[in-house]
Amino acid sequence: MPSITRNTKDWQAIDVAHHLHPFTDPKYFDSKAPLVVTRAQGSHVWDSDGRKILDGMAGLWCVNVGYGRQELIDASHRQMQELAYYNVFFQSATPPQIELSRVLAELTPGDLNHFFFTNSGSEANDTVIRMVRHFWEVEGKPEKHIFIGRTLGYHGSTVAATSLGGMQNMHDMGKSLLPGFEHVMHPHWYALGGDLGEEEFGVKAAQALEDKILELGAGNIAAFVAEPVQGAGGVIDPPKTYWPEIQRICRKYDILLVADEVICGFGRLGHWFGSEAYGIEPDLMPMAKGLSSGYLPIAAVAYSARMHKTLQRGGVFSHGYTYSGHPVSCAVALANIQLIKDEGLIEKVHNETAPYFRQRLEDVVAEHRLVGEVRGAGLLAGVQLVKDKQTRALFNADQNVAMKCRDHCLDGGLIMRAVGQSMVASPPLIITKDEIDELIAILLESLDRTAADLGIV
Ligand code: PMP
Repeated sequence: MPSITRNTKDWQAIDVAHHLHPFTDPKYFDSKAPLVVTRAQGSHVWDSDGRKILDGMAGLWCVNVGYGRQELIDASHRQMQELAYYNVFFQSATPPQIELSRVLAELTPGDLNHFFFTNSGSEANDTVIRMVRHFWEVEGKPEKHIFIGRTLGYHGSTVAATSLGGMQNMHDMGKSLLPGFEHVMHPHWYALGGDLGEEEFGVKAAQALEDKILELGAGNIAAFVAEPVQGAGGVIDPPKTYWPEIQRICRKYDILLVADEVICGFGRLGHWFGSEAYGIEPDLMPMAKGLSSGYLPIAAVAYSARMHKTLQRGGVFSHGYTYSGHPVSCAVALANIQLIKDEGLIEKVHNETAPYFRQRLEDVVAEHRLVGEVRGAGLLAGVQLVKDKQTRALFNADQNVAMKCRDHCLDGGLIMRAVGQSMVASPPLIITKDEIDELIAILLESLDRTAADLGIV
């Protein structure tokens, strides 16, 4: 079938007439039109008018190996011809799913050698919730059922994943906060540290978990769930004292530690997993996005030998999705992992591009009068916009400062995302130093334009 071609205005009109966009105010389209992306290659996408745009978000934090990779296209084509679908329910398996389980077991840290496959990060986190509660039931401790997440944590959009996350706007919509979910503070030193030094604040933020455990009773708590670096919450990398303290507290009270690797996994932080970057030894790791570089939907939950032993005593594991372990998605994930290995992408991020990106952000972006803080790790960056660099005062929310900056970026040929009053970036892992320069130049120009909009000269 030839690809469907229409002109931009037609695409936009049809889209606005029939499609509800995730995380978008439908009223936005009363005055503005959606960006229609029609093709992509490497680190760039092209819109329906043929304009080339640098994708500073790797799609939605996922296209780690970049666009247009023939190896992934070929893998899906081959697998579709061989076996387009079979399920893994009951007692069935398929070669790509078997092979992917083996390859993942080699990559994941510690004894996280067991996997359950899902289609999305949200489903992976829902699976974590059902699996962990079942685990404690089999262990004879059914009262251990409460999950503790963090404010501004993001774990997905199903009702349970929404509850696990700490996004107030999501809880408020449709009474989505289920019972059995609690939240503790996110470890953002710049915003919440007050007079404390960064390391001292890291310990304090971790202590909030211990306080919550003592308040609720360790005997009632199933697990603590957190992203190694918070992504959708604004790219919040914790002080280096934070994770060791969290690990200690979880061990002390026998609370399972879940590292949500949906963004941080598969090279984003210059390691296979964010847990390695921070020395975390989790009991479970939900993963998605970079697992297939977004070419096809696939996600997984890695879990420990201890959990596996218990699940073996628990009878039927009554959980699953029709497309769990989809053979074509597994084949693409395998090709994607092989590509990451063959091209040494993790080493490249760790040794070259991430340090370069960081240096450029610190040397030039941090100097801009609108910028209070640049933060992040690996190829994840957050740029905090402030009204006053000295006092760290923010703009009024209704000034929409980050959205203004985001729109200027797009006009200038760069996709970045606005989160609160921060700009965030998560480019493909194949991004070159020249492309990083391009990103920084457009961002600086957009910051200037935003300042001009606000009457700041
Ligand atoms: N966990 C994290 C850390 C995420 O960033 C996301 C998505 N941005 C999810 C879970 C949910 O993944 P999905 O959108 O694939 O359901």
